[in-house]
Amino acid sequence: MLIDGELVPSSSGRVFDNLNPATEEIIGEVADGTLADADLAIAAARRAFDTTDWSTNHELRARALLQLQDALESERDLFRQELIDETGMPRSLVGSAHLDATLEDGLRYPVGLIRDFAWERELAPVDKAGRAVARRVRKEAVGVVGAIVPWNVPLEVTLHKLGQALATGNTVVLKPAPDTPFNATRLARLVAHKTDIPAGVLNVVTSSDHLIGEALVTDPRVDMISFTGSTATGRRIAEKAAPTLKRLFLELGGKSAHILLDDADLDVQVPLAARWVTAHAGQGCHLPTRLLAPRTRYDEIVARVAAEMEQIPYGDPNDPEVHMGPVISTRQHERVLGYLRIGQDEGARLVTGGRRPAHLDKGYFIEPTVFADVDNAMRIAQEEIFGPVLAVIPYDDEDDAVRIANDSPYGLAGNISSTDPERALRVANRLRVGVARINSADPYAADAPFGGYKQSGLGRQNGIEGFEQYLQTKTLGLPGDVR
Ligand code: NAD
Repeated sequence: MLIDGELVPSSSGRVFDNLNPATEEIIGEVADGTLADADLAIAAARRAFDTTDWSTNHELRARALLQLQDALESERDLFRQELIDETGMPRSLVGSAHLDATLEDGLRYPVGLIRDFAWERELAPVDKAGRAVARRVRKEAVGVVGAIVPWNVPLEVTLHKLGQALATGNTVVLKPAPDTPFNATRLARLVAHKTDIPAGVLNVVTSSDHLIGEALVTDPRVDMISFTGSTATGRRIAEKAAPTLKRLFLELGGKSAHILLDDADLDVQVPLAARWVTAHAGQGCHLPTRLLAPRTRYDEIVARVAAEMEQIPYGDPNDPEVHMGPVISTRQHERVLGYLRIGQDEGARLVTGGRRPAHLDKGYFIEPTVFADVDNAMRIAQEEIFGPVLAVIPYDDEDDAVRIANDSPYGLAGNISSTDPERALRVANRLRVGVARINSADPYAADAPFGGYKQSGLGRQNGIEGFEQYLQTKTLGLPGDVR
């Protein structure tokens, strides 16, 4: 762990195992941090914020974050293999979305904003009972940020949180998920050995105990929680943060819809629908897991998407041809298999998949699965499964499709496919979601705000909106001339 600039073991001396979900083998041990360790990390972050010039020294922040960028790049291939081993994410996806795209802009974009952002702006002066008042609005760091990360895309989430939180001048206690700690401990070593980031500015506490995260949430010395994870945990964090009224940024779950309009190009969009829902074995918050198909073409679409799902190459995540690896843990495996039973009990029609693959006796694999005749009120259409499971739901007309897509407690993302882009855009503008993709065009990058409506969260990761979330606003009144 990294606490106050030192690489340290747990104060208890205990460690926990990091498992490879594709082989079920132990790949290493991690310090099992305690509440005492979390306390030291929070104290260090508080001291670094209150007594160093990190929050005001733009030049230091830009330099230190670019050193971190270089350090991460120098170990890119070590990160790559470790991410494959600890997440089970296939090499192809690590190579695109998770690692390489994130290293491209995850730190560079917020570093650019250190230079370009309008840290201060002047308002027009006002006359207050004959006295002139000049006015200025100034942006300042929020303070100590507790950053809590899930296991599904750990390095991607970590770098987008750290880039923005540190570029804006905050200090951070980072708590990775117990299932995927190695990317965070490697990052901690690089910060300690290869950057000028001052002691205490970034602390990393690993633990098998979720309550370490909760300690960050309840501690009055922490000013903000930046959380990515499940809606259930997000709700609990909101409750636990209420007594200290700290700022919350919550990136939560999703149950996104892909609306195939009746003029959609099925040759292109049906294979993409299958690839989206099986990306990282369905363990992505924004993946379209409900496929909305016009009743007039329903049977054809069900047959075609099932055929595509049967062609998805899955298995060893090290194989460059593999599109889908295992789910993360035995707990998640049982959870997804449970939903496969629930779907059948609810009366949905299992078209393909639905089991643990017979030919893979090790690893937490699930067959790519399609349910048809799904009613949007069923649990498999309302709840986040986080597995490679597609629910195909029929709709009558465009209004019906919009109604079904919006009939969800979540509002993270949506896809709309049509050969008429204007029509697709009209539908996109009616969806209550934070991200809308026309014909599967994905806008995701460090400069694009990402986040959800409704129970998919509060706030946005990335973009100017994300950057400002890590800032406070101070309004200054100065003696001045009205004219
Ligand atoms: P999770 O909510 O179980 O855990 C996330 C993190 O919170 C972990 O680090 C965990 O240790 C910690 N945690 C658990 N209980 C806590 C508590 N009471 N207080 C503070 N911290 C606590 O989620 P997960 O299973 O690791 O990740 C999967 C979930 O994350 C899915 O629901 C997925 O949709 C969501 N997710 C959302 C986004 C997004 O951007 N919207 C991105 C990735 C993942």
